[in-house]
Amino acid sequence: MSLVLDKIIENASKNPERVAYICEEQSITWKELDEKSNKLASYFLETLSDKTPVVVYGHKHPFMIVAFLACVKSGRAYVPVDITFPNKRISDVIEAVNPEIVLTVDNNLPVETAKRILEVLEFEWEGNEESSLPSDCGVKGEDVHYIIFTSGSTGTPKGVQITADCLDNFVKWAITLGSEKIMEGDKHLTFINQAPFSFDLSVFDLYLSLYTGGTLYTIPKAMQSDMKNLYAYLGKSGANVWVSTPSFAEIATSDECFSKELLPELKLFLFCGETLTNQTAKKLYDRFPKAEVVNTYGPTESTVAMTEIVVTDDVMEKYNPLPIGNVKPGTYVYIMDEDGNILPDEEKGEIVIVGDTVSVGYWNNPEKNAEVFGTMNIDGVEYRLYHTHDKGYYKDGVLFYCGRIDLQIKLHGYRIELEDIESNILAVSNVERVVVMPDYSEANEVIGLTAYVVSKEKIESALKERSRIRKALESRIPEYMIPKKFVFKDSLPVTNNGKVDRRKLREQEEC
Ligand code: AMP
Repeated sequence: MSLVLDKIIENASKNPERVAYICEEQSITWKELDEKSNKLASYFLETLSDKTPVVVYGHKHPFMIVAFLACVKSGRAYVPVDITFPNKRISDVIEAVNPEIVLTVDNNLPVETAKRILEVLEFEWEGNEESSLPSDCGVKGEDVHYIIFTSGSTGTPKGVQITADCLDNFVKWAITLGSEKIMEGDKHLTFINQAPFSFDLSVFDLYLSLYTGGTLYTIPKAMQSDMKNLYAYLGKSGANVWVSTPSFAEIATSDECFSKELLPELKLFLFCGETLTNQTAKKLYDRFPKAEVVNTYGPTESTVAMTEIVVTDDVMEKYNPLPIGNVKPGTYVYIMDEDGNILPDEEKGEIVIVGDTVSVGYWNNPEKNAEVFGTMNIDGVEYRLYHTHDKGYYKDGVLFYCGRIDLQIKLHGYRIELEDIESNILAVSNVERVVVMPDYSEANEVIGLTAYVVSKEKIESALKERSRIRKALESRIPEYMIPKKFVFKDSLPVTNNGKVDRRKLREQEEC
């Protein structure tokens, strides 16, 4: 069994009555989590014929964690699908995975593609005598622990497969974060979860909490924009470790009450997923003088994060933008040029990750795997390698991030391939050609999206056409991917090889 699973089982027997997970009024103890996941895992062992990954659909109900653990305890990967996924994306994932069973937790599956559905809340929990599982049926080694689907440039999402070893290696490092190493001690810690389980940032708080025997205090989606309730809810958390995107922390700081008075026990802010600005870090230190801010970096393809830096006063004074930091043990980062040559310090190139948390590849996607994954032998050890398409450089021995080589962006922490949106807009009737461009703030942050559309037939009203296209997109892509602005044009500038010339379009629009 994997180290992570072993530790989870040990934690349940050490502190059975401790609360493992809270979402508003609903919570679950460690004992319940362990017993219920065993029961469901036994059921899988009895009734499922193969080890196909299991899709788990829902939001933040405690039984989501029961479902995840049941899958991995029975030797199966789980595929989290959040309720914010639009129907087309849910059916794309189900079609791609073709699971024997789909688990739904407190929400009805809005598509009909599943072969068999089990509503976890209606499962026969009674007769909850201890279900003992065969000793070695949990995931381990190169078995896949979870698959997280991310935006794909073709318009269908890509499933990143993370193995039990990758997760073990990630968690062993993640508990060492922060200069006081609070996660390595025996103290009962409470972790804040913001991200949905379909976003790999959630792996950070979920598995740190499960591994350290803590409590995960989760903020459901609806509360994330209901500030009054959010602060009242946070105030009851007793949180010690905060995990979120920098964007969410920025939102939280919009009211002065987000400070040490609200969260007196908070010791550590862990950030990942997008640029952490000096301003956000400074604001957090003003409000939480006793807490520490850690910037981490990594793609889903390398298990959440693999670099870290404690953002001290010195770091903030010396660097703007902030570095993404030091590479974790077991991982190597090379800055490469287009031909794969390793570049010297201070030269910008592609961030290439080699090491023990790199994914085994995308689910059933040999073409894309050949393009971005590979292997590298370092000191006689064969590691997996991943081309991030992120641009970066080393300076003073630490790593810096400086944008993308391709058309992937981050909007409010969400990873989006612009071509993914474009393919979906092209599928809407009367669209001849489309380009989606990010809108930037003065600080160079992406703050919105604009779609430039050439219509097949003349449109009557731009306003009506915008609403029609946006409506059609609602069932195809997540809400955060739907452009707010639409510009209808007679033509788009093209390059010599017939592709839309994004640079020229930007110049035209800026004039
Ligand atoms: P995701 O797979 O959703 O976690 O997104 C991974 C991408 O987010 C990376 O490839 C980067 O482009 C970006 N990213 C992650 N962490 C950071 C960070 N600390 N600073 C800047 N960009 C980041």
